[in-house]
Amino acid sequence: MNIESGHDADVIIVGAGLSGMTAAKDLAAAGQSVLVFDGKDRVGGRTWCDPSYPEGAIDFGGMFVGTTHSRSTALGLEMGLELVRARPEGAAVWDLGGTPLTAPDGYPERVLEDGTSLKDALAAAFAEVDRIAAEIGKDDPWNAPRAAELDAMTMQGWLDATVADPLARRIVGADVSIITGVDPSEISALFFAFYVAQCEDMHALQVTSNTLLWKGGAGQIADRIADRIGRSRLRLSEPVIAIDHAEDGATVTTMQGSYRARRLILALPPSAAAQIRFSPELPDARRQINRRTNFGRYMKLQIRFDRQFWLDKGLSGEIFSLNPGFFSLDVTRPDDAQATLVVFIGASAYDAWHGKGEEARRVEMLDALARCLGPDAMTPAAYVETPWNEVPFTMGGPVCHMPPGLLSTAGPALRAPIGAIHFAGTEAAPNWTGYMEGAVQSGEAAAAAIKATLKTGEPA
Ligand SMILES: Cc1cc2nc3c(=O)[nH]c(=O)nc-3n(C[C@H](O)[C@H](O)[C@H](O)COP(=O)(O)OP(=O)(O)OC[C@H]3O[C@@H](n4cnc5c(N)ncnc54)[C@H](O)[C@@H]3O)c2cc1C
Repeated sequence: MNIESGHDADVIIVGAGLSGMTAAKDLAAAGQSVLVFDGKDRVGGRTWCDPSYPEGAIDFGGMFVGTTHSRSTALGLEMGLELVRARPEGAAVWDLGGTPLTAPDGYPERVLEDGTSLKDALAAAFAEVDRIAAEIGKDDPWNAPRAAELDAMTMQGWLDATVADPLARRIVGADVSIITGVDPSEISALFFAFYVAQCEDMHALQVTSNTLLWKGGAGQIADRIADRIGRSRLRLSEPVIAIDHAEDGATVTTMQGSYRARRLILALPPSAAAQIRFSPELPDARRQINRRTNFGRYMKLQIRFDRQFWLDKGLSGEIFSLNPGFFSLDVTRPDDAQATLVVFIGASAYDAWHGKGEEARRVEMLDALARCLGPDAMTPAAYVETPWNEVPFTMGGPVCHMPPGLLSTAGPALRAPIGAIHFAGTEAAPNWTGYMEGAVQSGEAAAAAIKATLKTGEPA
């Protein structure tokens, strides 16, 4: 600590996820001293991988990189990583009840009760989602003319009013759950429209955001930043429990001590910020964001097989299932010794499936895969569950969502600094909220804002 100035660092960063580590890297490169705190015993937060996992690296958290994720791609490449392709060619399987359907590209076809086409109904429904997203926009959704109207309803309410066919409605609702980890009845229609606008459109969310993988795993990015800035700058297994703040600095308190800096970045999901005591209390709008924004319920499964047997049948390994509700993709990397399907299951589909207990849910999942891909799915080589609801200091996944009535009223507080406190984390991102790209962009934005106000060379 610099005794003269009474500061332990120029900038304290709370949260060593991709966002906090990006900010730490940028600030350190600009000559600012940083200290990064995390409750976990590792960096990376929602990115977390094991590059030397038997038969091929494994990502327990965020893994896919989108074709337009330019900032996170640049960062990963700068850290010496290599991108590889996921999602082999082939048809997707849609298990909607009855015999599973295959769709060579896009949505599946089935004749609906009224004689119309499911494919057309889905295309129309997702186009409507895109339309409200474009109307709301990604920057200041609270100022949109229909902000209050859309924020007064849940996404389920919006679907009930907009999508006539019950099956199409159920499919769009299940997609909302796969993306956010909550049921459409739990999430504000305004917030979901904002989320889609942040992530370009539904096609980007469904396809182009899930096309590339980091060789060895995405968690390596934060780890390599830790090596670059120096691990002495990290305080791991040291959760921040209190923050005293003013215009000219902030002090964080942990079980081990107190640390002072001229600026502070909260690189956390709002639900984690809600666990911290602030003095003085944060303004009401920011408090509302912290306390009413929450994670979904989410399980990430990785199921390994000796080979990509689904490719023999012209299938890509992609499954959209209502039975139980889940989504799977083939994430086998070129050098892997085994094939891997990743399966996401969230919201009430997760609740019902997870509640059955470990053995019963494994049997149900393998049965569901076998129905879609064939009997070889019954005999995996490995079956790895990552229950994000139980991961300390995260306790949910994949992203935080807002219930009705919050974004239209408290939204402007999502990114606005408060004195010495700056907000980062993917939930505060300028683009691609909820994704690694959003985490990187929010970390870069917070670091840039601090660099603009804090002169290098002042005593720390
Ligand atoms: C299962 C899953 C799959 C995903 N898949 C993808 C994907 O394929 N592609 C993609 O782009 N994104 C994906 N995501 C999302 C992506 O991982 C996140 O958007 C991104 O990693 C968030 O980074 P962050 O730094 O903003 O937040 P986090 O990674 O959540 O970092 C916040 C950190 O703060 C720490 N913390 C919390 N409370 C405290 C405290 N009091 N004191 C100190 N530290 C604290 C936490 O331990 C955590 O490390 C996925 C997420 C999950 C969970």
